Amino acid sequence: MLSLATALSRSVTPHEVADAMLDEGLRALGADAGWFVLVAQSEDGAIAFPTIRGSRDDEVEIRHDLITPHPGRPLSDAILSRRPVLIDSRADWDARYPGQYSSVASTDHEALAALPVVGDRVLAAMVFAFRGPRTFDDDTRTDLETISQLCAQALDRSRTQSVLSAIGDAVVAVDPEFRYTYVNESAAKLLAKPVESLVGRQVWDTFVGAEDAEFRRLFRAAMIGRSAIGYETYSSPLRRWLSIRAVPSGDAGLVVFLEDATRGRRARDASDFLIEASEVLSSSLDYETMLQNLASAAVPRIADWCAVDMLQSPGDRSGPPTLRRVALTNDNPERVALADVTHEIRRATATSDEPPAMRREINSSSVIIAPITARGCLLGALTVCMAKSQRKYEDSDVVVVEETARRAATAIDNVLLRREAVEAQRAAARAADRTRRLQTLTATMARALTDQEVLDIIVEQTIVAVGAQAGVVMLLSADGTTLRPARWVSYPSASVVALQDISVDAPHPVRDALRGQPIFLESAEEWTARYDPPIWKFSNTHAAAVLPLAGGGQALGALSIRFDTSHHFDADEREFLVALARQCGQALERAHFLAAERVARTEAEDAIQAKMDFLATMSHELRTPLNAIGGYAELIEMGVRGPVTELQRHDLQRIQRSQEQLLSLINDVLNFAKIEAGRVEIDTRAIDVRTTLDALEPLLSPQLAAKKITLQSVDRATNVKVLADEDKLRQVMLNLLSNAVKFTPEGGQIFLSCEHDDRQVRLKVRDTGIGIPPQHLGRIFDPFVQLERRLTNVVSGTGLGLAISRDLARAMGGDVTVESVLDAGSTFTVSLRRAK
Ligand code: ADP
Repeated sequence: MLSLATALSRSVTPHEVADAMLDEGLRALGADAGWFVLVAQSEDGAIAFPTIRGSRDDEVEIRHDLITPHPGRPLSDAILSRRPVLIDSRADWDARYPGQYSSVASTDHEALAALPVVGDRVLAAMVFAFRGPRTFDDDTRTDLETISQLCAQALDRSRTQSVLSAIGDAVVAVDPEFRYTYVNESAAKLLAKPVESLVGRQVWDTFVGAEDAEFRRLFRAAMIGRSAIGYETYSSPLRRWLSIRAVPSGDAGLVVFLEDATRGRRARDASDFLIEASEVLSSSLDYETMLQNLASAAVPRIADWCAVDMLQSPGDRSGPPTLRRVALTNDNPERVALADVTHEIRRATATSDEPPAMRREINSSSVIIAPITARGCLLGALTVCMAKSQRKYEDSDVVVVEETARRAATAIDNVLLRREAVEAQRAAARAADRTRRLQTLTATMARALTDQEVLDIIVEQTIVAVGAQAGVVMLLSADGTTLRPARWVSYPSASVVALQDISVDAPHPVRDALRGQPIFLESAEEWTARYDPPIWKFSNTHAAAVLPLAGGGQALGALSIRFDTSHHFDADEREFLVALARQCGQALERAHFLAAERVARTEAEDAIQAKMDFLATMSHELRTPLNAIGGYAELIEMGVRGPVTELQRHDLQRIQRSQEQLLSLINDVLNFAKIEAGRVEIDTRAIDVRTTLDALEPLLSPQLAAKKITLQSVDRATNVKVLADEDKLRQVMLNLLSNAVKFTPEGGQIFLSCEHDDRQVRLKVRDTGIGIPPQHLGRIFDPFVQLERRLTNVVSGTGLGLAISRDLARAMGGDVTVESVLDAGSTFTVSLRRAK
């Protein structure tokens, strides 16, 4: 019976069940023949006998018809009554089925057992036949019942399994001992083993993931609790995610539905990761923290470890790329994998500007390297690696990693742009600060008048401005062959001595600076490498800037600024120092000019003084004899020396006129010289206009009377005051009025008027004289200019009157201007500031 059960348990199809029944059933019962009949429920409800099998083909009539069972035959009765029909002898045949024995007589089977196989309906029936009579005792009846039950179970399972085989899902059945009793093709495919290698073996031996305790616990719970379970697990050997549903089966085992959940699971992981990545990438952190967070988000969802490497100088293709690892998820990832992968990343980022993402198997690790590219420029690479989980990447993973790299690129680009903007702001602030410092320096220098003052400012201010420890200005000697320290701060005397009279050809940074090249030495090493012997040792200098000082295109010397420690001069600082040195050069040049100008001015002043002395002496020397001439002519004219004839008197008067003219000329020259030399002192104060003008007329009356000219005062201002020097104003007005008399024919008119507003007073002298040609109007104020003398006899002068008048008016803060119409008259206006 045991071997029957075993054979049945291995039978899957109904035919295999039938074979097992007949082979093992006959042996167990000691029967001689057997028939196995499958009972199908046909569509019209009739019972059919689709298959009949016998133990000995020659004895069995095999029919394939559909047969409706008729009562009155042992097999039909067993089927219809659902009870065994047992016939133990020939007599029994005759008694129960009269006349029927003959139909089986040829086979000589006297005893017969017809058994129904009953499940939810009658599934099959079978007949065991015996030669000779047989007594069906209780044991035999029990055996028959067992056989029929086993058969029912086997057929039931077979039916279930045929259904399961028909569906595409992977299904296995396990018995209470966790042995596979059934594995369908889909399941075999999923489990990557042939069906035969699984069936009959324990799940623990073969089932993927069965080693995991959770699996055992859940399966037992389902089996004992007779309840369904479902869960998802990752199978390392299969490298797949499995969705498992186990349902208790009729035979106390489980039917297990397996589903490959890898795709869905990965899609979920990928989308979860992408969501988190987006959050991480949009956080406004510095980009290294951002990338580190990105790498952390990748593990374990899409990688066992993840790294981000950035190119040190993106866009630079001159050498092999230098990568900096800015993010790594694991401090101690699989070292072999990391080293190999790093090599691959180098290769990937070295190839071209936009390398494609690549998927590789490296030493049992699965790797994807995706370029991080922003605005067409390769910035770095995102690398994900599956190592210990032994998962292999697929094309769909490449898409996810590429997408992540693209998002990372945008985020990095944004951060860099922000950083650039901030940097630009800082640069602008630095530039403003530099400009301010330069302006301060320029302002300070503008106040420096001597070389020495400029040098003091250069050395002291520049050291403060750049935070250096010491400084020296070296100046070129007059013959341009040597340099000497002109001014220094915080320089040990030893180094000052060392700097004395350095030849312009000596190997010294100052020599190079003299050629117009700023020299920046950032460390003692750099200094030693470039200049020998190392002069810096005297002054404990580690870094220095040696800057050319030039003025007017000429090298003047160099400014050397020194630092006690190594110092990096960035582009900004270099630019600042060069600008500063340029200012210093200009200041030095200006100081030179000032010195030269001072010398020239002193010389000029000395010359003027000499001229003035000369003029004073001359005028004194000339005036004395002239006065004598005048005096003696007057004496003679008075008849003191004897009677004088009319002709003599006339001549004497001419002598006197010439003497007066010469005297006034000498006075004019002396005055003009004084004004030009700035020797005239002007004492401006508030002067009453009316008083001044009233005082003029009496002084002019002889001249007016001589030419029968009338002088009219119009608009005489009352209570109007001007800012002027009273004597000088009178001098100006007399000059203008005399000119008016001079250039107005007999019987003409002169008008003296005053106009004023809040700020200005204008005194006007208008005549009805000869006027001035328009083309000469601009010249008459020049010294020694006299226009064509049409009235030679009347007019005398030096051509200095107007020049002196205008100079005096200007010295009082005013001016003299003219308007004139030829042959109609002229108007001269003296404008002065009004006094309150
Ligand atoms: P001068 O000693 O010759 O008067 P001024 O400097 O006073 O020298 O005048 C320069 C010249 O301007 C005169 O020679 C004359 O030609 C011209 N000038 C000055 N005042 C008048 C005037 N009121 N009418 C016409 N010409 C004048």
